[in-house]
Amino acid sequence: MLYNEIVDVYEKIEATTKRLEMTDLLVNLLRKTPKEVIDKVIYLTQGKLYPDYYGVEIGLAERLALRALSEASGMTVSELENKLSEMGDIGLVTEYSLQRRKVKTLTEFLSSSKKTQLTVLEVYNTLDEIAKTSGEGAQDKKIRLLAGLLKKATPREGKYIMRTVTGRLRLGIADMTILDALAITFAQSKEARAKIEKAYNVSNDLGEVARRLAEEGLSGIDKIKIVIGRPIRPMLAERLSDAREIMEKLGGKFAAEYKYDGERIQAHKSGGNVILFSRRSENITHHYPDVCELIRSGLKAKEAVVEGEVVAVNTQTGEFLPFQELMHRRRKYGIEEAMEKYPVTLFLFDVLYVDGEEMLDKPYLERRRKLEEIVIEGERVKMATSKIIKDVEELEKFFMEAVEIGCEGLVCKSITSESIYQAGARGWLWIKYKRDYKSEMIDTVDLVVVGGFWGKGKRAGSYGALLMAAYDDETDTFKTVCKVGTGFTDEDLEKLPSILEPYRIPHPHARVDAKLEADVWFTPAIVLEILGAEITLSPIHTCALNKIREGAGLAIRFPRFTGKYRTDKKPEDATTVREIIEMYKMQLKKIEER
Ligand code: ATP
Repeated sequence: MLYNEIVDVYEKIEATTKRLEMTDLLVNLLRKTPKEVIDKVIYLTQGKLYPDYYGVEIGLAERLALRALSEASGMTVSELENKLSEMGDIGLVTEYSLQRRKVKTLTEFLSSSKKTQLTVLEVYNTLDEIAKTSGEGAQDKKIRLLAGLLKKATPREGKYIMRTVTGRLRLGIADMTILDALAITFAQSKEARAKIEKAYNVSNDLGEVARRLAEEGLSGIDKIKIVIGRPIRPMLAERLSDAREIMEKLGGKFAAEYKYDGERIQAHKSGGNVILFSRRSENITHHYPDVCELIRSGLKAKEAVVEGEVVAVNTQTGEFLPFQELMHRRRKYGIEEAMEKYPVTLFLFDVLYVDGEEMLDKPYLERRRKLEEIVIEGERVKMATSKIIKDVEELEKFFMEAVEIGCEGLVCKSITSESIYQAGARGWLWIKYKRDYKSEMIDTVDLVVVGGFWGKGKRAGSYGALLMAAYDDETDTFKTVCKVGTGFTDEDLEKLPSILEPYRIPHPHARVDAKLEADVWFTPAIVLEILGAEITLSPIHTCALNKIREGAGLAIRFPRFTGKYRTDKKPEDATTVREIIEMYKMQLKKIEER
């Protein structure tokens, strides 16, 4: 097949914005594409060489591409650069410069006149070689390969080759349009379209779907199965912010799971090999060697595909850290160090494949049971906390618990017999119920230490976290409002036990009102300055209990010690419960105003 033929279609696609027209153009292209190259035609049309999860990027630097163009066109690099800033599109610059190409020598004239036309395969293979060339002398080799291709190309072909090789071919064809075109070309019924889409969701590879269809028809599609190492497109959730509506949508009874605020991963395990994929199906294995180990040792199955959320944790308090902390793990170098500094816990919530058995079409409860069967829970790998919910009160309470411990809310999941894993789809089988506000606490608060939790690891011998309270001036008591384990320097940690020792008592102080069980209790005396992210409703803290909502208190989320010991304050001078209620109301008001 000639490259020219797909270039024709590219030009027409570029000239339209209508999806139906694009689909027709693609159908015409697919009809005349030989099956041997159909996968390559699909990838090229998407501006790539392989499905995304391969991680092969063409993306040649513009600077290098222009050097190759200079060689092929005879224009100097700086002339080309000027043209590029004038025209703004490397494709147009290529077309322009190749049109002006001067034939210099007799041999060149002779070879150009009997020049053969470029085939799709030749273009694809050369681009592939360019993408894969690495190591010493790679730059020169890439330029040579590209220049060779451009020399053979017509100006129009050159335009698309250059856009493709620099990662700028953006024809705007959605995956769904390609699926429509494949269905029209090779099948035609609605069921066939659904089957083809499912095959894509399982394989993440439109090229393979096209090749199977072209070679074997619809029966080829049935052969597309889950393959370990090939990411399955993730199931997504709809969103509602009203508990009653969620109850209705899910038929009055469903499973709610904590919605962890971390990074979604899909883990593929085969014996000792583990590959991790992100929500966008990128291979992110190298960011998380620790998670790979958790999967290796935490799953009984020999082969499995499971999904979960990786969350940054404070190992001292067990508290979850904000999602931003995880970003420290997204780096190329210093992974080991980052792994120690920003430890994570993995919360598993789904299983898609286990030892030869595909789980996608099994209902939620069966998948969950299977997951429980194969997971060996430990400190760092756990099942996502889940609960069967039957009424609104239960849902609200569970929601508060989730937010309290640092989650974003809940994911409510259907438990009917139809509750399959809908790969690649956003549907009503999963509904997220999130806090629909986020705001910053501007003021710090001064809180009283009323309890302590022993530290672990590096913090052994000191406190991992302190239980903090606000002062309730109506009852002259201290009401707990958070557990703080962040913001302490090594020096703080060293001196905290001796600072607190004089106040240690064997039980909660009579004026302290706490639901939590601390390891150690203190007479209210020491006041620390704390900065939090926001104030939330809480089922476990006693500050403002029942004042805003029945059964709930208020808590400070993501609290951090600022480093200031407020030795100038008595415990009764600490921030009061009333002030915290005020701050909470202000926060709500600010959100409403937005
Ligand atoms: P979306 O994924 O819906 O496009 P988004 O990227 O903003 O939007 P969220 O609103 O955070 O995602 O909601 C869905 C995400 O919640 C999932 O992709 C997953 O990463 C995360 N999540 C956390 N806990 C769970 C859980 N128990 N079950 C399913 N997903 C969970």
